[in-house]
Amino acid sequence: MHLIDGNQIATALIAELKAEVATFTGRKPCLTLVRVGDDPASVSYVKKKEKTAAEIGVTSRIILPPVTITQAELFALIDGLNADPTVDGILVQSPLPKHLDEVAVFRRVSPAKDVDGFNTLNLGKVAQEDDTGFVSCTPAGIMELLARSGTDLKGKHVVVLGRSLIVGKPIALLALQKRAGANATVTICHSGTTNLPALTRQADVLIAAIGRPEFVTADMVKPGAIVIDVGINRVPDATKKTGYRLTGDVHFPTVAPLCAMITPVPGGVGPMTVALLMKNTVKAFHLRAAP
Ligand code: NDP
Repeated sequence: MHLIDGNQIATALIAELKAEVATFTGRKPCLTLVRVGDDPASVSYVKKKEKTAAEIGVTSRIILPPVTITQAELFALIDGLNADPTVDGILVQSPLPKHLDEVAVFRRVSPAKDVDGFNTLNLGKVAQEDDTGFVSCTPAGIMELLARSGTDLKGKHVVVLGRSLIVGKPIALLALQKRAGANATVTICHSGTTNLPALTRQADVLIAAIGRPEFVTADMVKPGAIVIDVGINRVPDATKKTGYRLTGDVHFPTVAPLCAMITPVPGGVGPMTVALLMKNTVKAFHLRAAP
């Protein structure tokens, strides 16, 4: 079994971006992060994004509206960022408080600054295999992980567990694309799928993104499969200082010995998500600078 080291691959990508940004004279790319409220996971994600931006030389700005912000106020804030010529990328951290319509907020971000890739236009461009848009960071990170660990999806059966707009749907579309590295046969499973283990056992590449701790067990995996564990779940653990431990959607101890390759949690897909956000921000900077 080979462990796909997301930290190492993300570090390589970050070093490439840092070298590229160092060549920019004048203004540096600017990423604005909007975090509504104090969801603990969001606090740590935004911190990590801010830290990585600084490492690369990307300017970051953090806006922290109160949890009581209305939809109209958040729209006005986004409109201001859309119009601000010094801002290249905008990320509104998900999940948003329940009273806000997340998809409407994603739509409000200008497609040209939508480095999170959730605007309708950018999601549509993934379906149309149009490279001028932004691919959402976690799915793009998974494709990069696979490519940099020498996996060509061509002809492989990719089974995606989960159909969210953030992970499941876009990763399925990317694996399906008719291009080098992709070209897979794709099955998407969700909570309405019957006999799920029979489908997951057919996977050459199994991508688990359901948000259920250690859901995928050894009996659900074909020996020799490649397993990408997207899940980040906080499980109560009294032995930890924080009171919880992080676990993926895959039961790592029993599944890993079966696999050709597997991503750990933490240290697999997570670091790639942040690295791809930086890649998208640099891309937004280039696209906006182009005549
Ligand atoms: P969502 O909750 O939005 O979607 C979960 C999906 O899994 C849904 O499609 C749901 O089906 C499906 N599902 C849930 N339970 C089952 C089940 N028992 N059997 C079959 N399908 C099921 O989650 P996200 O896609 O946003 O996130 C998934 C996981 O990935 C989470 O742990 C999240 O923390 C993590 N994540 C990690 C990132 C990273 O950077 N590594 C980034 C984003 C997310 P249905 O549609 O029918 O409800």
